[in-house]
Amino acid sequence: MSWWAREPGRVLAEEDALRALVARGGVLGAYRWELTPEAGVRIQATLALGPREQAVEVRFPAHYPRECPAVLPVPYGTRLSEHQFRGDGVLCLEIGPDNWLPRYTAADMLGSAWRLLVHEAIAAVEPWEIPSRHVTHLGELVRQHPLVLVRPTSLAERLASLSESGEFAVHIIVSESGFQVWPLEVPSGSPLPGVPSALRADKPTTGRLLRLGPDAPREPPRDRAGFIEFVATHTGRRCGDKFELLLLVWPDGSARGYPLAGETITALVDVPLEDGGPRLPTRTAAITSSIRVGIVGLGSLGSKVAVSLARSGVRRFVLADGDVLLGPNVTRHAARYEQVGTMKVHAAAALLREVACEEVECIPLTSMLASATNPELHELFLEVLGKVDVLVDATADPDVFNTLADLASRTQIPLVWAEVFEGGLGGLVGAAQPRRTPCPQCVRAGFLAQAQAWPPAPRSSSLRPYESGGDIPLVATDADVSFIAAALTTRVLEAGDAAADPAAPVVLFGLRRGWIFERAFDTMRVEVLADDWSCPWCWREPEAPDPEALRRATAILTGKEPDADDPDRT
Ligand SMILES: [Zn+2]
Repeated sequence: MSWWAREPGRVLAEEDALRALVARGGVLGAYRWELTPEAGVRIQATLALGPREQAVEVRFPAHYPRECPAVLPVPYGTRLSEHQFRGDGVLCLEIGPDNWLPRYTAADMLGSAWRLLVHEAIAAVEPWEIPSRHVTHLGELVRQHPLVLVRPTSLAERLASLSESGEFAVHIIVSESGFQVWPLEVPSGSPLPGVPSALRADKPTTGRLLRLGPDAPREPPRDRAGFIEFVATHTGRRCGDKFELLLLVWPDGSARGYPLAGETITALVDVPLEDGGPRLPTRTAAITSSIRVGIVGLGSLGSKVAVSLARSGVRRFVLADGDVLLGPNVTRHAARYEQVGTMKVHAAAALLREVACEEVECIPLTSMLASATNPELHELFLEVLGKVDVLVDATADPDVFNTLADLASRTQIPLVWAEVFEGGLGGLVGAAQPRRTPCPQCVRAGFLAQAQAWPPAPRSSSLRPYESGGDIPLVATDADVSFIAAALTTRVLEAGDAAADPAAPVVLFGLRRGWIFERAFDTMRVEVLADDWSCPWCWREPEAPDPEALRRATAILTGKEPDADDPDRT
């Protein structure tokens, strides 16, 4: 139902307000209502602007009066004012969608349009600034002209130090959403800092960097012939008929990019790559830039954690997984369909490079721990994983957990692990850290001892693995896994922060009602205290060997009786 049929009283009130405005004189000359099946209700009105008149149209939105009407010139496309959207469209008035109230009327909008046009007519005679509410947002510019130059801050610095014209290297991305130009080297051969490393791998296009002479006007002509003439006059360079990408540099160092294509030459819209201001807490940035994280299991959970850590500034990873990315994995994995058929480790490494602006070090281990693999390879993997600052077990595989728990305890590396419960019921995140908690095995044993008092557990990892070894696929939404992945990522960052207030060693998150969760978002903390649970090996090096056994072992291995003055023999 149309708004006027729903609220006929509103039409009467609008009519009264319009009549009052006409009666006041000098603003609204004449008006008439229009009702058509296609356009609905409109008002055709004439504004009195001193000696002349201006026809305008008021259009009402479907949900009037809850939303704001629009006033535009008649005929359409007439440039009336400095305050028009798209230059010649709807007038930008004091009242707009951001401050509209249902008590305003179409007569108020017409009065506002009249004030704008009268003030502009006066300003044309004597300078008078009309305050503008019409901010040209970057979004509006790109929507109208989706050809952009992505500018790292380093570009301006580089251009300021350049004294000559030359070539520069760019990466051009042409897609449905537009045309993006990424400068890579300015001039050619000098890479710009701050450009995402993933872009550098692509084959660059060469553009031309042209310094303009001191008399060059701000705006080059937009027609092709005029533009080419402008370039020739102010740079001495003749452009040909072929496509060229130009970067014009004015004497003050300001620069704009121009693709030389078509009959109308329009500057690329400048999009800053950085916009000042940190986006990460300083403390997080300090931690993430210094740690190396080892992630075992690059399924849905592990891939999300890896990407989130990279977004938080982690640049050094060891990634271990022996599986191939399959189509159905994309339901919850951070990877994309075009990566199906590659090792999950390699798919994850590619994702990390995409989200990081700097180089990312990824050591790929393409075999799962605790699987039937070559013992020497297994040893090598443990050696590599033993050199990280935080270990993450995202496999929910008890055998992998045991292997990593042993490695963590022996090397004194914090181990953080998580699992998602079947059916999206929720999940758990556990952590064991030297000097803060008992060792991983003790934390797990402590947790399981407490869980014995609970109702029978759902089908879950403590009992069986998922997404490894060809088990039944996990049934859960991407949101369920993301929720647990976010908790796991937070726990990893906390484990890397020596000054953090650590959470309970095991935390269970409920996402649905069931098992121990009375309703969604129930959380349960499980404390495992060192006094209750600490094994003889908790975070300890093996005991010093028995000297006599060592002496005899040496004799067997070397085939010699040890010297009487062997320093080991005391
Ligand atoms: Zn222990």
